[in-house]
Amino acid sequence: MELLTGKKALVTGIASNRSIAWGIARAMSEQGAELALTYQGEKLKSRAEKFANILDASFVAPCDVSTDAEIDALRNTVEKKWGDLDIVVHSIAFAPRDQLKGLYLNSVSREGFLMAHDISSYSFSALAAAFAPLMNKGSGAFLTLTYIGSLRSMPGYNVMGLAKASLEANVRYCAQSLGEMGIRVNAISAGPIRTLAAAGIHGMKSMMDYYEKIAPLGRGVTIEEVGNAAAFLCSDLASGITGEIVYVDGGFHSVGFSEQLL
Ligand code: NAP
Repeated sequence: MELLTGKKALVTGIASNRSIAWGIARAMSEQGAELALTYQGEKLKSRAEKFANILDASFVAPCDVSTDAEIDALRNTVEKKWGDLDIVVHSIAFAPRDQLKGLYLNSVSREGFLMAHDISSYSFSALAAAFAPLMNKGSGAFLTLTYIGSLRSMPGYNVMGLAKASLEANVRYCAQSLGEMGIRVNAISAGPIRTLAAAGIHGMKSMMDYYEKIAPLGRGVTIEEVGNAAAFLCSDLASGITGEIVYVDGGFHSVGFSEQLL
């Protein structure tokens, strides 16, 4: 039997076949989960349907997480189609492009700060509050995606680093809120991966080259590796893990200095 047989998983954030959410949806499907996918805006519906067909997903539904009404509508759709669910994957982040270059203090604005925190962190609480009541007690799991720019300054990551710090705190507070329902809340902190969102970060290529030099595994990680870790974390095999940030980064976060730099 696969890890997620009998579980229903709602996966947000598939923008392309390079998206981390695509790696997660594929791994969850391979592990037996029944999937539903979301998309942002009517224009992107056919793209979502294409991905849904490949994975034989049950349905696709719109959700721009910056709008409460769309989150409510998504919840109603899931309740109507499935009745209940087991897993929600939040693989969403956004900051205006002008926030992601140069020094933090030269780029940050009130508007950029609020938008980055709203879409990249608050939306996780909003999805958790909306979907926890539909989750199967004792086996529900929420998962989000973060990056080590939450803990350490990274060139160009800027306000997104602050939003990820907020998101990681969000994981801990949501885990506390939902623990008594037996619902678990975790994050994967992934190493840098070339996706559409990553393309917006100035200096990404140099950061990836440096990363490959420093990480103990000496290479970047793939969306398949993040997907496999996600499938595990949302499965009953991880029933004792909540409020956790799990690094899938080839060990980069564990290194102080590297042989490769001597
Ligand atoms: P991606 O493929 O570009 O995915 C980002 C997704 O966020 C897209 O599907 C985008 O939808 C969605 N999104 C943005 N604003 C939204 C909104 N208002 N409502 C609903 N969806 C919205 O990039 P990714 O790298 O896979 O990013 C997924 C997650 O992984 C993000 O949280 C990111 O910070 C995190 N992460 C990425 C890396 C990396 O190096 N790539 C490393 C660690 C963590 P549209 O395409 O429709 O705009």
